[in-house]
Amino acid sequence: MSTEKTLFSKIIDRELPADIVHEDDKCIVIKDINPKARIHLLVIPEKPIPTLFDLTPEDKDVMGHMMLLLPQLAKTQELDGFKTQINTGESGGQEVFHIHIHLLGD
Ligand code: 5GP
Repeated sequence: MSTEKTLFSKIIDRELPADIVHEDDKCIVIKDINPKARIHLLVIPEKPIPTLFDLTPEDKDVMGHMMLLLPQLAKTQELDGFKTQINTGESGGQEVFHIHIHLLGD
């Protein structure tokens, strides 16, 4: 794993600004800077796991935590439906190599 901080780790550490919607001991949720829908959030674990390919069994807890958070976030945003996306690897359209779940809703 690279020792250089990811863009999202810098946001988590408040070294870069972001519009933060939620934060807890496992993850942060921010508004996407270039929204592809009326509501476009990014759910990001504190742990800088690069891609889904890098998950280990010890990450079950945080991944499950983020999945359970999605419908709660949708309700907070007054969405009655939403899409999720996890881009994986360059050929999967991933630009930031720190796992994140896109939550999109109109
Ligand atoms: P990926 O393509 O890696 O799945 O998604 C990366 C997402 O991060 C993109 O939707 C992009 O708009 C968003 N993004 C990139 N840089 C920043 C930033 O500095 N702040 C925020 N809030 N979002 C960003």
